[in-house]
Amino acid sequence: MLKKILDSSSCAECRLCCVFDRYDIWETPVFTEKIRDRILDLKPNTQFISKDGGYIFKADRLSEEGLFSCPALTEKGCMLGDGKPFDCRIWPYRIMEINGRRAVTIASICEELYNRPLSQLVEFLENGLADEIFSYADSHPEIVKPYYEGYPVLLFEKKCV
Ligand code: SF4
Repeated sequence: MLKKILDSSSCAECRLCCVFDRYDIWETPVFTEKIRDRILDLKPNTQFISKDGGYIFKADRLSEEGLFSCPALTEKGCMLGDGKPFDCRIWPYRIMEINGRRAVTIASICEELYNRPLSQLVEFLENGLADEIFSYADSHPEIVKPYYEGYPVLLFEKKCV
């Protein structure tokens, strides 16, 4: 979804959004049942926890650096390819709820996009991406996260939820 502004080779080299520390649990992707089943087909030992109608993976083993990886991450990148969760397809954009209103924010950890001019990041949202995000969240409210301090707000939804 971000192919127009984010070069896939940059993501392939980085993968920062697929590795988490204990404070990032809230940031792990929310999987649909279909994607969860696909991961289970490929990695039957993966454990999931249900979350508001979706699923997040159960992270119980930290590496020596105190990090854990998404179970869909392989040496070659995400094994889900274009079938990755919506959360991952729009990352580093995030949808959050602030005082009862939905908004699109951005994660600063993605240097590739975070260092772009603000106008470019907002323009991309205004050219259709924001509508797609809000529309998907209408049918999958589990992807809406409570506002997390430090995430710059790029755009508020026009109507209230
Ligand atoms: S589903 Fe794929 S893109 Fe998303 S966090 Fe996991 S490995 Fe990364």
